[in-house]
Amino acid sequence: MNEHWLVKIWKRLVGAELRKIEAKSYNKKDERVFQDKVKKQGTKRLDEAGNEVYATALHPKVQKRVIKLIAEAHKAGLNVDLFEGYRSFERQNYLYNVKKTTKAKGGRSWHNYGLAVDVVFKDSRGRWSWANKHDWKALGLIGKKLGFTWGGDWGWDMAHFEYHKGIKSTRDALKMFNEDGKGAVWKAVK
Ligand SMILES: [Zn+2]
Repeated sequence: MNEHWLVKIWKRLVGAELRKIEAKSYNKKDERVFQDKVKKQGTKRLDEAGNEVYATALHPKVQKRVIKLIAEAHKAGLNVDLFEGYRSFERQNYLYNVKKTTKAKGGRSWHNYGLAVDVVFKDSRGRWSWANKHDWKALGLIGKKLGFTWGGDWGWDMAHFEYHKGIKSTRDALKMFNEDGKGAVWKAVK
């Protein structure tokens, strides 16, 4: 069934308005504050105790694994660090609606539950680097050995590692979250 072009345009306009309202709870200013915080933290984002702004919101099982992942990667000569861990629903929606840097809406990313991390290489000057020249495969193998699902296995998202044994999909996680809160999601992780 073909929709009239006017209907299509109308739907697109309404959709854009809805997305703007959705994104309102987190805006450009919030993102600036967030990025400032990130800058001040410098490159050291996760210490042995896991005391770090984003890491503290990670599930303990994920935290334990990402500390190991980074330590083992360093031993293997891979210069990596934790780039991002927990991401709020609001920021996820902002990245989805405004920045368009993710395919997942708020609630549909494992990052939103503290069950995913992005581990990124550093170049010789200490800057984050997603360049292809790095041995992402070696990093991915270390992560998988630790029980992570690696984003590189779906052909992109080489920095992404998630651990959510016991929960099949983000749809299931979101359902649990809506019904019983974050604690229920965390409890379901084996
Ligand atoms: Zn990720």
